[in-house]
Amino acid sequence: MKKNVTVIGYGGQGGWHASHILDSDVVSLLGIYDIDEKKSALARSRGIRAYSSLDEALSDNACDIVVVATPNDSHKEIVIKALEAGKNVICEKPVEMSVSAFEEMVTASDKSGKLLTVHQNRRWDVDYLAMKQIIESGDIGDVIRIESRIHGSRGIPSDWRCHKPYGGGMILDWGVHLIDQMLLLIPGRIDRISCDITNITTDEVDDGFRLNIYFEDGKTGYVEVGTYNFLSLPRFYMQCKNGSAKIEDWRLRAMVAKCLAWNESDVLPVQTAAGITKTMAPRDELTLKTYEIERPVSDVHDFYRNFVRAIDGQEKQLVTHEQVRRVMKVMEACFKSAELGEPVKFEE
Ligand code: NAD
Repeated sequence: MKKNVTVIGYGGQGGWHASHILDSDVVSLLGIYDIDEKKSALARSRGIRAYSSLDEALSDNACDIVVVATPNDSHKEIVIKALEAGKNVICEKPVEMSVSAFEEMVTASDKSGKLLTVHQNRRWDVDYLAMKQIIESGDIGDVIRIESRIHGSRGIPSDWRCHKPYGGGMILDWGVHLIDQMLLLIPGRIDRISCDITNITTDEVDDGFRLNIYFEDGKTGYVEVGTYNFLSLPRFYMQCKNGSAKIEDWRLRAMVAKCLAWNESDVLPVQTAAGITKTMAPRDELTLKTYEIERPVSDVHDFYRNFVRAIDGQEKQLVTHEQVRRVMKVMEACFKSAELGEPVKFEE
């Protein structure tokens, strides 16, 4: 039998959840609650029940799962109330604005015996899945460095995202996704973190950032978010022991270049603008094989399918507290490094 879901916050992302829940094979939409009456009226005009208060929504015995899709600063209070009301909870990312707020939510979940998870839906992004597939295939060997970038050109949105008290800024908004992906692509222990932020379109919050995560085993993960980039750099660029891989754009397929022979018998120098070079001369097909990989297949509904099975004790939840805690710790280290203007040691 399908589990009933109530969505708290019927804005952009609450609307996304509502329409996906209406399409789901494992959950059905019970209703929504939003503090803004206009959003409630919109829901009703679409035939969706809109509760008139949070308490009314949480006291409905028919509700099995609450999705929290309100601005970042309000997550903790609503999540804890929902857990205390005996509901399982899916909280939007970032789970909150600090590790300590998250710990309070975990404690509430433990006390209530109900599950809490975080909607890290970008684990289903096909660009990320393509990188994962290339690493797991082992075809170009161990990772040396992964660069993950997302570039836009419209600045930070002018809603709550550009205000600090609501949990605005790009580290919390997009960083949380890209850091989560990076920690899954490079699973080792982190040694230190170095991050600087940009304030091109606003001084109040970071409208972009550049983060280096240095792992104890020598690998590096680089994460960059920009909102003032009128030309974009590749979404992913990866150097491995035996080749490189790249995804120009999330609409495109991943390209792999595999080194077939390190030593070349004869490298012809190439002419560049004002000189010649052998070092930077392109390789030929005798020593380098290039190919594209098919875009992986992915279904975001697997997130709900997993959570429902986790509630029924049939499998473990995919987005674990340990993973969420680690991403939150990296984001806290980003803010600290940016403030100090120097790398910070990471405490695992
Ligand atoms: P939004 O501003 O479009 O919508 C937020 C809604 O919450 C609004 O309708 C607002 O009236 C309502 N709201 C505010 N406080 C409330 C409260 N106390 N109780 C009930 N309703 C309240 O914002 P959004 O873009 O939908 O973002 C909401 C959350 O979803 C954020 O945490 C954001 O980071 C996350 N998000 C996640 C993704 C993703 O891909 N996972 C994408 C976008 C947003």
